[in-house]
Amino acid sequence: MHNPHPGLPELDYVKPASLEEASRFLVEHAGEARPFLGGTDCIVRIRDGAWTAKYMVDVKGLEGMKDLSFDPQKGLTIGAAVPMNKVAADPAVQQHYPGLVEACHWVASYQLRSRATIVGNICNASPAGDTIGASILYGGVLRVFGPQGFREVPLDGFFKGPGKTTLQPGDIAASISFPLSHPQHACRYLKLGRNKLGDLAIVGVTVMAVPARTPSGYHFGIVLASVAPVPLRAAAAEAILESKEIDEAVIAEAAQAAMDGCKPINDTRGGAAYRKQMVRNLTRNGLMDVWTKVRK
Ligand SMILES: Cc1cc2nc3c(=O)[nH]c(=O)nc-3n(C[C@H](O)[C@H](O)[C@H](O)COP(=O)(O)OP(=O)(O)OC[C@H]3O[C@@H](n4cnc5c(N)ncnc54)[C@H](O)[C@@H]3O)c2cc1C
Repeated sequence: MHNPHPGLPELDYVKPASLEEASRFLVEHAGEARPFLGGTDCIVRIRDGAWTAKYMVDVKGLEGMKDLSFDPQKGLTIGAAVPMNKVAADPAVQQHYPGLVEACHWVASYQLRSRATIVGNICNASPAGDTIGASILYGGVLRVFGPQGFREVPLDGFFKGPGKTTLQPGDIAASISFPLSHPQHACRYLKLGRNKLGDLAIVGVTVMAVPARTPSGYHFGIVLASVAPVPLRAAAAEAILESKEIDEAVIAEAAQAAMDGCKPINDTRGGAAYRKQMVRNLTRNGLMDVWTKVRK
């Protein structure tokens, strides 16, 4: 008989002393070892039988993983193991990256966010990941340690499909960095879930407006969650918003372009047609918010 709650299978817990040791272990046990941070995706997926792993490699304690630093010239660096609650409570993040704070607040509950990390949310590569849109729009770059040493991995092009990224066996994301944000930018994350207590997004929309020398006077960024196999950049909508003087009609036109540009699926959380309409509505509402804020 099918057991819907099978419990965790037997696993070996591995706690490497260095990034080199962790990477080597992950290469030697490719396909049967998995790095983890908060474990809020890993443990659930393994418990439910969706993933198999013989070894869970705890990378939380490795060098720099728990550091969070802000430099007024260079920007923000968040160690991979910094939990979302710590990010959201940081005064520099609140002042310079408010969209990241808002996105963290939408992830499940305070309890979960005391373990869940932004880097884990990104590496899990769910199209519904709440903090991915803000991480993309703030220009996030992962610092990844792999068999050849460290390299920088921008988030553009990082996502390859649900649960799939460009990371290879032995790669460990150590931190994510963001350049200094524009002091007059505005960013919002609007999420539609089945309830207010914490559900994955039926649709999520991150929007950002930044003053710029464009015909409209702004750069706009829009990233859509849960409407494609990867977080989706609404490029056509962004182009409309940069090319024309902004008013409510242009915002409505851009929201329609965002809707037309996505091809969501039907699943237990929502139908494709409903999702498309919600993309239009949330995009319009988000754009109205950031435009109102940024032109004050
Ligand atoms: C009850 C519940 C509610 C949830 N609600 C939400 C929600 O509302 N919104 C949302 O977006 N998510 C939600 N999630 C999913 C999850 O909490 C988030 O994706 C979280 O950010 C994952 O972070 P973590 O540190 O726990 O990742 P982990 O589970 O530790 O890892 C996630 C993935 O990243 C890989 N990984 C971990 N560390 C590294 C590393 N250093 N380098 C490379 N790969 C690595 C792992 O192998 C795994 O594939 C929920 C989960 C649960 C259990």
